[in-house]
Amino acid sequence: MQPRPITVARGDGIGPEIVSAVLRILDASGARLAIEEIAVGKAAYEAGHSTGIPPEAWASLRRTGILLKGPITTPQGGGYKSLNVTLRMTLGLFANVRPVRSYWPFVVTAHPGMDLVIVRENEEDLYAGIEHRQTDEVYQSLKLVSRPGTERVVRYAFETARRRPRKKLTCMTKDNILKLTDGLFHKVFDEVAKEYPDVETDHYIIDIGMARVAAQPERFDVIVTLNLYGDILSDIAAEVSGSVGLAGSANIGDGFAMFEAVHGSAPDIAGKDIANPSGLLQAAVRMLVHIGQGEAAARVQNAWLRTLEDGIHTLDIWRESTSSQLVGTQAFAAALIERLGSEPRRLRPAQFSNTPMPTPVLQARPPQKKELVGIDVFLHHAGRDAEALGARLRDAGTSALRLEMITNRGVKVYPEGFPESFCTDHWRCRFAAPAGQVIGHDELLELLRRLREAGFDWIQTANLYRFDGQVAYSLGQGQ
Ligand code: NAD
Repeated sequence: MQPRPITVARGDGIGPEIVSAVLRILDASGARLAIEEIAVGKAAYEAGHSTGIPPEAWASLRRTGILLKGPITTPQGGGYKSLNVTLRMTLGLFANVRPVRSYWPFVVTAHPGMDLVIVRENEEDLYAGIEHRQTDEVYQSLKLVSRPGTERVVRYAFETARRRPRKKLTCMTKDNILKLTDGLFHKVFDEVAKEYPDVETDHYIIDIGMARVAAQPERFDVIVTLNLYGDILSDIAAEVSGSVGLAGSANIGDGFAMFEAVHGSAPDIAGKDIANPSGLLQAAVRMLVHIGQGEAAARVQNAWLRTLEDGIHTLDIWRESTSSQLVGTQAFAAALIERLGSEPRRLRPAQFSNTPMPTPVLQARPPQKKELVGIDVFLHHAGRDAEALGARLRDAGTSALRLEMITNRGVKVYPEGFPESFCTDHWRCRFAAPAGQVIGHDELLELLRRLREAGFDWIQTANLYRFDGQVAYSLGQGQ
């Protein structure tokens, strides 16, 4: 078989040392790789590339579609863009995959049976970074969740679960509160689940789900969740596994994928040949599985587990009780290479599929019938009296759009609000067409003009739609 071209970036700090150790191991393992090197990170930032990625690096990434990346030192000060966020957004890396397991008794942990994979949506949610200050008192961040974005990551998670022995997938959302955004994620999960009858599924509300991962991680196999929850959950899981330094992660896209260690460039120990190359090696193993070289991946993984079992440890995991030999980065790689072909004695040997992960194919969906039935007008208004505001807005309404309610931070304050509710200067005022009627944009413009004439400062609007006759907006707090 032809060697598979991949791009490698050695990175900063301990990056060059651990990358060179990992490349030695890959070379000895029988993995068929044709390596192109690029220089990204500190040197590229200093050469004036604001994202830390020079043009020739993009050309290599386009050629190979795969990046194995050493950690990068993020420069201090303004003007620099995050290299990781740039790669994720530009290459459409929709899933962040982080396997977390314990290596008891060779690495100390309270959860010996833990072996799970977190598949985190990687591009949407609050990470779209669309934020505004809207009034003196209120700031806003938009949470965006799309059906294609969700479907891609959910399908990827099902494929991941199907390839593991337990074949179990848990979805975590907060759809009891966020019925439209998180509700969509849960709904797509349930729809796709029908195509994977061999995968056992369940769903947790994210708060109890995270608590269970912290307390009983053995219960879980693969978990799929939205971006922000996944970010937090990944760190909780890594922390309770006891082996943050041994974890690798994959960022998966449609035709592109990036693999790296979870840790950073560790400038405090750079150049000393003491860094543990295991996190990056775990990422490299995942890369081999991704490109369909599962046999080589299993050979490397089993030799790595055996090296750990034999007590050959770098300083970060060295303990008198569990270690037999303290080694540096390159000696660890040499010890592992000697063990290629061996299996672990106590830890479960790795087995990986040789079938490359398929690119998720999305279901085509015809557009639905969309009807405009109202508008939420957000006002910057300094008074705190909801009844008085309601009376003025009622007068400003038109025959096509009548004031239906006012909420303040999601709490209904008009009509029939509670005097106890504290009101900020940020009011959501819902104007709706009479029941059964559909309106056009002209009616919205007329309402906004009248509100302006009445002296109101509208700072944002959101149209209210029905899709195929279904109400497509939240009705109020928790409804
Ligand atoms: P870090 O992960 O680099 O280091 C935290 C601690 O863990 C340090 O004491 C370090 O010596 C130790 N450590 C990390 N990796 C180790 C390894 N392989 N073997 C042994 N010990 C290891 O985190 P930090 O110090 O907060 O960040 C340093 C730099 O890395 C910063 O510039 C940060 O922005 C960057 N960073 C990059 C990435 C990435 O490229 N994906 C991720 C995280 C941090």
